[in-house]
Amino acid sequence: MPEKVIVIGSGPAGWTAAIYCARASLEPLLFEGAITNENQMAGTLPLGQLALTTEVENYPGFPAGNLEAYLDDAIAKEKRQIMGPHGKEGVSGPELMELMRQQAVNFGTRVITDDIVELDVDNRPFKLTASDGKTYEAEAVIVATGARANYLGLESEDKYKNKGVSACAVCDGALPRFRNKPLVVIGGGDSAVEEADYLSKFASTVYMVHRRDELRASKIMANRAINNPKIDIQWCTVLDEVLGSDKDGVTGVRLKSTAGKPDVELEASGVFLAIGHTPNTAFLDGKLEMNDKKYLQWTTPGRTYTSVEGVFAAGDVADDYYRQAVTAAGSGCMAALDAERWLAAQE
Ligand SMILES: Cc1cc2nc3c(=O)[nH]c(=O)nc-3n(C[C@H](O)[C@H](O)[C@H](O)COP(=O)(O)OP(=O)(O)OC[C@H]3O[C@@H](n4cnc5c(N)ncnc54)[C@H](O)[C@@H]3O)c2cc1C
Repeated sequence: MPEKVIVIGSGPAGWTAAIYCARASLEPLLFEGAITNENQMAGTLPLGQLALTTEVENYPGFPAGNLEAYLDDAIAKEKRQIMGPHGKEGVSGPELMELMRQQAVNFGTRVITDDIVELDVDNRPFKLTASDGKTYEAEAVIVATGARANYLGLESEDKYKNKGVSACAVCDGALPRFRNKPLVVIGGGDSAVEEADYLSKFASTVYMVHRRDELRASKIMANRAINNPKIDIQWCTVLDEVLGSDKDGVTGVRLKSTAGKPDVELEASGVFLAIGHTPNTAFLDGKLEMNDKKYLQWTTPGRTYTSVEGVFAAGDVADDYYRQAVTAAGSGCMAALDAERWLAAQE
C-alpha cells in the first residue's frame, strides 16, 4: 500500500505539514534527512536551519521567559539529555525544532532519519528512493527540504558562527550584541544591500565588503546603500579573516584588497554573510519546475502546488524572499491542507 503523504524535510515547514497531515488522519511519513558528515558540512542535518542558531526572538509564542521545566516535560527524555542546556530566557533554535518534531510525533507522524535521493514523478503513486536504497510509494508528496545559507568557507568564519557571524540580518540584527556597534556585511547584490540597510537601524556603522568597484545590486538598491550615511562601502576588498576571541566572539575583520592595496583591519562585533542561499533541490533537477536560482516554483498563486499534480512545496525550498521560520511553518500548513484537499478530490 502506498503512503497517503510523504513529507521530505525537517525544518519548520516539514514538521508543520506533518502536524496538519497527521491531524487530518493522513498518517504522514516524514524523512528528516540523514546524519552524515556531508550534511553536517552543508548545514543540512535533521531539524533544519533554525537548529543552527541560538536565540530565536521572532517566532510568535515564545516571549522571554524560562522554559526549562516545560522543555523537560514536553521533550522525550533521551532527546532532552542530548540537547544543550537551556539559556536564561526565551527559546533557542534547537529547542524550538525539537518541540515541533515532538508535536508531529505526538500526533502519529512516523519519522525516518534518511535523505530522499530520488523522486520519480512520472507515475502515480510517486516513487521515492532513500539514500540507503530503500524505495517508498506515496499518493502525495510535500517537499520541504529548505535551503542553506552560503558561507565563504573560512575557518575563522566557522569558528565564530553564533558568536557574531550570522547569515540572517532579519533574524539576528536586533540582538543586543550588535546594537550601536560597527558591523560588516559581505556581498554586493540586492540582498546584501537589504541586509546592510536593515542593520543600519541598529548598528553604529555598517561596512559593506565588496570585491569590485561597483555593486552588483540593481541601481535603485545600490543607491540606497551609497546614500545611507551609516553604510560605508569597502570597495575592492574581500574578507580574509574574522578576528575575535573565545570570550568576546567577533571583534573585527581583516580585509584583503583585490586592487593590490594593503590589508585593512576594522573593528566590528558582527559579520553578516549575504552571498546568497542554495535551495536543497539537486535531487529534483528535471523533475519539478524551478526558477533560475533553482528554487521550486509554486505554479498557482496562493497555493503550494508545484508543476506536478500531487507534489506540493513548502518553506524556503520555494521561497527565496521571506526565508523565516514562521513563513516556512505557514506554508507547511498550506501544503498539508492543499494535499488533503487534493487527495479528497481524487477519491
Ligand atoms: C543561522 C540562521 C539563523 C536563523 N535565525 C532565524 C530566526 O531567528 N528566526 C527566523 O524566523 N528564521 C531564522 N532563520 C531562517 C529559518 O531558519 C528558515 O527560514 C527556516 O528554517 C526554513 O525552514 P524550512 O522548513 O523551509 O527548511 P530548513 O530549515 O531549511 O530545513 C530543511 C531540512 O530538511 C532536510 N532535508 C533537506 N534535503 C532533504 C532530503 N533530500 N531528504 C530528507 N531531508 C532533507 C534537512 O535536514 C534540511 O536542513 C535562520 C537561518 C539561519 C541559517
